[in-house]
Amino acid sequence: MRVTLYGAARTVTGSAYLVETASARVLVDFGMMQGHDNHDGANVVPPELNLTSLDAVLLTHGHLDHCGRLPLLTKAGYRGPVYATPATIELTSLVLHDAAKVQAQDLARVNRRRMRAGLDPIEVLYTTEDVDETIPLLRGVDYNKPIPVASGITARWVEAGHILGSASIELTLEENGRRHVAIFSGDIGHLGSPVVRDPERFCGADSIFMESTYGDRNHRSLSETLEETRFVINSALKRRGKILVPSFAIGRTQTLIYHLSALFRSGALPRFPIYLDSPMAEEATRLYLRHVELFDEEAMELHRTGQLERDFSAVRLCRTAEESMALNNLDGPLMILAGSGMCTGGRILHHLRHNLWRPETHVLIVGFQAEGTLGRQLVDGRKKVHIFGEEIVVRASIHTLNGFSAHAGQSELVEWLSCAAHLRPRLFLTHGEPKAQEALAGLIKERYDLGAEIPEYGVPVEL
Ligand SMILES: [Zn+2]
Repeated sequence: MRVTLYGAARTVTGSAYLVETASARVLVDFGMMQGHDNHDGANVVPPELNLTSLDAVLLTHGHLDHCGRLPLLTKAGYRGPVYATPATIELTSLVLHDAAKVQAQDLARVNRRRMRAGLDPIEVLYTTEDVDETIPLLRGVDYNKPIPVASGITARWVEAGHILGSASIELTLEENGRRHVAIFSGDIGHLGSPVVRDPERFCGADSIFMESTYGDRNHRSLSETLEETRFVINSALKRRGKILVPSFAIGRTQTLIYHLSALFRSGALPRFPIYLDSPMAEEATRLYLRHVELFDEEAMELHRTGQLERDFSAVRLCRTAEESMALNNLDGPLMILAGSGMCTGGRILHHLRHNLWRPETHVLIVGFQAEGTLGRQLVDGRKKVHIFGEEIVVRASIHTLNGFSAHAGQSELVEWLSCAAHLRPRLFLTHGEPKAQEALAGLIKERYDLGAEIPEYGVPVEL
């Protein structure tokens, strides 16, 4: 039996693990590589993956970097099952439809430019029609109920505490009388994050494929983050500028609205208008409110009193492109939450183009920014950036607030292993940049005397 990574190997995006035994082939996640142009070939499926011969596909959660390449399966002719929790199925449908739309828009612009330069147009990775063919393959699974997914392979989904419906997946593999338990952590949530439950740990495994996004740093505590947020927002309010928040539509947006509403209610912040400029985030929020059964206790209580719904409905929604553009003519102070979360596309780009050059603008970075993205350039303090081919000078204040992360920080990752580490599993670090992976490997060695391997793209690991 063996596992091969076709993404998220020594990098953060594009999660895809091919698991092969003598009798079955299954894929865990099939995410989009981000931080590239969608049309630069990074997301083209390598022939070795041989998608039509897969027996099943299993999803950890509905973020684009974990489910974004699924329509390539149906395009290639795969018609087998794709297993996921019910909330993940709904989120995946939302995310893939949005991704198809964004690609079509982006490519229309790119192709206009290519035609002017005398070059052939390029094709989108997939269309809305491809997505429509993919969604019916998705099948719901319950948490903690092992199910057979292929010959000799049983899978169990366990709460990962990252976003609604997120899971780690435990696979029990059988081959020629040999049994092997492999865990795929998915994205591990941040303890104490609002709304979703905390991640569960595992106490037995032969091998663990573990994410390492924040392997080299800890987040600030929630109370420090809220204090920092209050400070930054108060100074932005004084300058009457716009506060731009590139925000993942799923998870981060709901977390932010939850915290800001609490700060308003307690009087820690004066109320100011918050615009949610993302039809996808609006839809995701509605989806969250349909799955209160997955909430943690605090959020459930707020839901019972109706406060949660009141908080979310106080946010102003921009549904159309015209409503989005109309924000340009409004004076601050106001906050705009818009995608994409790493500034790789979407409406946030228009707001950044209009406002980055203004010294009264504040940008709050609330999520991980992968290498190569515009968000990362802002975090790294670039003084000039390019948006839609135009050079924009950065005079806005850029603030990074990692405490809102939906990912476990370094010590939480180490802690997540605390029970399983004693059984000496083979540990593979994935879904992280090399610097983060090396730091995390060092700490795990120190704490548990357990070595970690860091697999490479396309190089099989024998189990
Ligand atoms: Zn995720």
